[in-house]
Amino acid sequence: MIDRNQLALYLHIPFCLQKCSYCDFYSRVFEPETVKLYLGALVGELKYRSSGWQKPVTSIYFGGGTPSLLSSAALEKILEAIEENYRLVKNPEITLEVNPGDLQTKAKLEDWQGLGINRISLGVQSLRKEDLKLLGRSHSSSQARRSLSILASAGYDYNVDLISALPGQKAEDHLNNLAEILSYRPRHISSYNLELEPGTPLAEQMKQGLLPEISEEEDLRAYQQTRQELQNQGYQHYEISNFALPGFNCRHNLAYWEFRPYAGFGPSACSFDLQERRKNSSSLRNYLTNSLSHLDVPHEISRLDQRGLTAEYLLMGLRLLQGIDRRDFRLFFQESLSDLYSREIARLEKLGLLAESGNKIYLTDRGLLLANQVFRAFL
Ligand code: SF4
Repeated sequence: MIDRNQLALYLHIPFCLQKCSYCDFYSRVFEPETVKLYLGALVGELKYRSSGWQKPVTSIYFGGGTPSLLSSAALEKILEAIEENYRLVKNPEITLEVNPGDLQTKAKLEDWQGLGINRISLGVQSLRKEDLKLLGRSHSSSQARRSLSILASAGYDYNVDLISALPGQKAEDHLNNLAEILSYRPRHISSYNLELEPGTPLAEQMKQGLLPEISEEEDLRAYQQTRQELQNQGYQHYEISNFALPGFNCRHNLAYWEFRPYAGFGPSACSFDLQERRKNSSSLRNYLTNSLSHLDVPHEISRLDQRGLTAEYLLMGLRLLQGIDRRDFRLFFQESLSDLYSREIARLEKLGLLAESGNKIYLTDRGLLLANQVFRAFL
């Protein structure tokens, strides 16, 4: 059964060297003076909100933005604030999202290791020059190869992010990327489809017909062969877009999918205490003003009713290939899954999108491809 007496911490570092063409995450251009102020504000928020979050912390995740732009002293200051104000378990998973351009020497990795950072998530996205250019990434493919070889030779626990379904991309292009990445044997691979977020430069270019179409056929072929290849190489497909060697699932992201509590700090970060959801506002200016004045940072709270909570539980849990457990659902909601959703489940099973085994309900292979259709049925 899932242990919910634990906590995952997320730190949003909202600075990047430049804005990627597909990105709608909250981030600003990196300026050392603003970053200095931000550190004080982030430490302030960590202290201010700590009394409400005293469960044992099992994972810490530096995301962004580009957290690898922070100096080691800055990362140390944040980690110290966490240690002083939260209850860490022994050996929590501590992940740093890294832009390949920021990891070009072994010494840099050793610095991070010295701080207790025991997992790296490397934003490679693609090893093809033309893809990196299209995506507006600030790193080059040779920088990505250099950081991969540093991580591999150090035997580090690291994830590689890859994006597929780019405009005009053939399945082979993605599969060649994957084959080269596999030669470094990362312990974890996240292989995502490009999401065209409205308002981003890439989505606009697509709308204006300036780029080739994204082929559904190629996309499907890339997904199926990625899955097959990774499984052949000993990776377990454990979430729609995530694969890991045995024992190396991302503990932090599991908190989201297993419906466990998490606390997010920094502008635009989200928190969930199993009842209400809090979203910090996306204004860096207001964030700095409030936190540096020892006030809570601007945020919105949404309190979900029972129906909203159960739907969210299903949407997150069904992303995992192991699916959801009827007993866990009953324990958590004090109601049975069948009483609430028997009609939806029966219909999705008839369509071949969901299947059951013992107490588990999970997406079938077909359901994995049509996951959004499944999720919509529960909303
Ligand atoms: S580095 Fe990441 S957060 Fe920054 S702009 Fe690019 S995709 Fe967005």
